[in-house]
Amino acid sequence: MNEEEIWLGKLTRREFRNRMDAGELKLAILPVAAMEQHLEHLAMEHDWRSARLVAGGVARRLAPRALVAEALMAGISEHHMIHRGTLNLQPGTFLMVLSDLVDSLVRAGFENVLVLNGHGGNIAASDAVWDQLLRKYQINLHFLPYWNVLTREDAVELLESGTRLPEDLPGHAQEFETSMALELFPENVRRDVWKDQPDPAPAMATAEKGAAFYERIVDRVAAYAGDMIEGRRRLAVPEFHP
Ligand SMILES: [Zn+2]
Repeated sequence: MNEEEIWLGKLTRREFRNRMDAGELKLAILPVAAMEQHLEHLAMEHDWRSARLVAGGVARRLAPRALVAEALMAGISEHHMIHRGTLNLQPGTFLMVLSDLVDSLVRAGFENVLVLNGHGGNIAASDAVWDQLLRKYQINLHFLPYWNVLTREDAVELLESGTRLPEDLPGHAQEFETSMALELFPENVRRDVWKDQPDPAPAMATAEKGAAFYERIVDRVAAYAGDMIEGRRRLAVPEFHP
């Protein structure tokens, strides 16, 4: 497979049209995340970069049936705005953009859309309106924070800081996120301050833990998305009021 075939943005309109018309494209993965401060030692793109890399890994597994539609890097981050540089979307703005992007994917012909979330702040607002989006778009539309596929056993095996799974994840710039960064984009970890902060948890991160987490996450999200494609995982569209 050509790497470029999994990214919607790398296709021309003709290439997209031909693949959709041939029935090849079964699933769009829409990564959403945040562009926000991650303590003193991680770069602000962390959540976006992680969600994008998980989405890419999953689409590669499901090729040629899945496309990653990259479009929304910023998320709901008012709670981080005290740290300058964070890019924030108000909840209503986030939901309007998300809804418009889903609308675009539905009109392109997708019947399965997986919104792959990489930022905790996006969850409550999305959960609150999901039944409305299901009614509006009438497709198999899922919202999945990528760490939800991890288990308590994964935490016991891989984390030393006492983080519980899945309720404590992703844990802002802590052992889990720092491990992911060390494995996937180590240039984003500032070595001069990483282990020299009041909070001891980030210092327990290793690239090996990050590699194990990334592999398990991609495996399991790919299985989840594969089930969506095969019709084994469907979110029922809620009833309209009579
Ligand atoms: Zn984060």
